[in-house]
Amino acid sequence: MPVPTPEELLARYDVQTPEALAHRLGYAVRREEDAPAVPGVRVASQFVPPDAIILYRRSLAAPEHELPRREQWHIAHELYHALWEAAGGSPWRISETEADRWADRLLALSTADSAE
Ligand SMILES: [Zn+2]
Repeated sequence: MPVPTPEELLARYDVQTPEALAHRLGYAVRREEDAPAVPGVRVASQFVPPDAIILYRRSLAAPEHELPRREQWHIAHELYHALWEAAGGSPWRISETEADRWADRLLALSTADSAE
């Protein structure tokens, strides 16, 4: 079972942002200051099975006016991973490229840009 497209999900649920979509699908979005230390890697967000999407504010490192959009993009990216696993996809075969593309698409379709 493939991950539904952003188009399908937005048509099915009456939501405006990736965060609202995540909530509708039963995922909790949490914001923390600091990411767990991973040598050589800056972790900005993470999907923690079974149902948590965590944003690490310091790692997002976005200017104030870009932060809301950056947060929504990362929520969308992690939501793809969540849906991939929920659809029976192996956590060892995650595609970062697919997650990025899916997040780009969802953000383009949502009103995250105008959300304050
Ligand atoms: Zn990822």
